[in-house]
Amino acid sequence: MKPALLVIDMLKEFVYGKLKSPSATTIIPFIKTLVEKAREKNIVVIYLADKHYPFDHELKIWGPHAMISDEEAEIIEDLKPSSRDIVLYKRSYSGFRDTGLATILRDLGVDTLILTGIHTHICVLHTAIDAYYERFKLIVVKDAVAAFSNEDHEYALKYMHQVLGAELKTTSHVIELLDKLA
Ligand code: ZN
Repeated sequence: MKPALLVIDMLKEFVYGKLKSPSATTIIPFIKTLVEKAREKNIVVIYLADKHYPFDHELKIWGPHAMISDEEAEIIEDLKPSSRDIVLYKRSYSGFRDTGLATILRDLGVDTLILTGIHTHICVLHTAIDAYYERFKLIVVKDAVAAFSNEDHEYALKYMHQVLGAELKTTSHVIELLDKLA
């Protein structure tokens, strides 16, 4: 297994601002633990971050959010990327759309994606769907993803497991898995 750790949309606006989820702050320590372990094991950490132009399609549904020049669109302080990490900006739900993510993963020889971040039923789900079509194996860290409601969260986890074949694991289980890698 050659994994990459994906941290999706842990932006100020989505964690503390207008589009926050009640559980968004609770996943921060779990993601932090995973990021630190990944760096220790030389596993690539890829941050996917919404950054919108005023004409973006998605704004018709959600209104302006994570706008291109807005400080609210920055990744939260607690999870600041290091210079070794990769940061990709996206203009729609999926981290694969118009970002070059698939090419980067292939260049790195990655075969498995470990998904964390928000929201379980929107950007995490859409990234998982595209990852499925791109033939990557999926591990969704169930205590390191969050949605607006528990119902949205549980529905998306079930969908990713049943329809996309994603393994659902806890942070501690994933840490054990990564510790076993050379
Ligand atoms: Zn967006």
